[in-house]
Amino acid sequence: MLMHYHTYLCAIINMENPNGIERIKVLIIGSGPAGYTAAIYAARADLKPVMYTGIQPGGQLMITTDVDNFPGYPKGIMGPEMMEDLKAQAERFGTEVRYGMVSSVDFASYPFKVTVDEEQEIKAEAVIISTGASAKWLGLESEQRLNGFGVSACAVCDGFFFKGVDVAIVGAGDTAAEEASYLAKLCKKVYLLVRRGEMRASKAMQKRVQSLPNIEILWNTETKEILGEKTVDGAIVRNVITKEETKLDIQGFFVAIGHTPNTEIFKDWLDMDEQGYIKTIPGSSRTNIPGVFVAGDAQDKIYRQAVTAAGSGCMAALDAERFLVGRETNSEE
Ligand code: NDP
Repeated sequence: MLMHYHTYLCAIINMENPNGIERIKVLIIGSGPAGYTAAIYAARADLKPVMYTGIQPGGQLMITTDVDNFPGYPKGIMGPEMMEDLKAQAERFGTEVRYGMVSSVDFASYPFKVTVDEEQEIKAEAVIISTGASAKWLGLESEQRLNGFGVSACAVCDGFFFKGVDVAIVGAGDTAAEEASYLAKLCKKVYLLVRRGEMRASKAMQKRVQSLPNIEILWNTETKEILGEKTVDGAIVRNVITKEETKLDIQGFFVAIGHTPNTEIFKDWLDMDEQGYIKTIPGSSRTNIPGVFVAGDAQDKIYRQAVTAAGSGCMAALDAERFLVGRETNSEE
């Protein structure tokens, strides 16, 4: 329904555009804290930003419960509520938020060519990429087959379905530690499967995990197979040192082993590191293509916080504004 409305709106805009191709001043791709903050700044600078939300409007915070570390919320806030607030703030200053997915880009000519939902072509004078990152998987056949039937990459989204039963979660970073603690509140027992003899999570998070009586950490342990025909009913895990295999009687299997940046559609155009994080010119949000900027997790594998994403979104909007003013000044001379 929303998509039809969007197509209808574009048709109206195109009727007013002799080329039939809509031209946008600042296009923002992605709707997490980076995208919305960029939108707030760009809209307040009268750059009339248009945002395409992507397949998960609101980004990763939509699948988070309490956010206690975003400044300005002394009592904390729920992730989805914060994203609603950011959206309302961006719209208040005139951002147009559209539900759609940017499917390809062509940065060879200017204004940049962008295709939405594989059919709608638009042109943009400046592009802010804030496409974020997505969960990684172990790569087991059983993990794929049982995904959504007991296998999940989001404890906060799916933990509810495993109330009172035993589950396992794999990972050893802050995400795994946080999600294990979350699951411990709902589930009878939580096995935390750590592939090495130590965890990467912060000391505070590790302490929290170790203090919860219904979390059992299995060190040096990898997952061989997730068991179950239609739904998960167990997992075979192996100790990498002793080679001993153990069957865990679990009904839920959670994966929390990090993320991959959502930057695939930009790989032919932008400089990236080996993991696909877009490179920026130090101290800025600028990419190797003038007029294309990047903010949030698509370029940040170190901090990856809502507040750092928001800060980089602000930088991207300011950089885009400078770029556009620079072009106008040059064309007037
Ligand atoms: P990380 O990349 O930090 O950690 C991924 C973990 O998964 C590592 O411990 C890694 O093990 C393990 N892992 C990777 N691949 C496999 C595999 N195939 N099998 C088993 N284990 C595997 O990702 P996170 O998502 O945990 O965190 C990302 C960033 O977000 C971090 O900077 C983190 O600090 C931050 N964060 C902060 C939070 C907070 O402050 N509240 C909450 C959540 C995240 P190994 O250590 O052996 O490489």
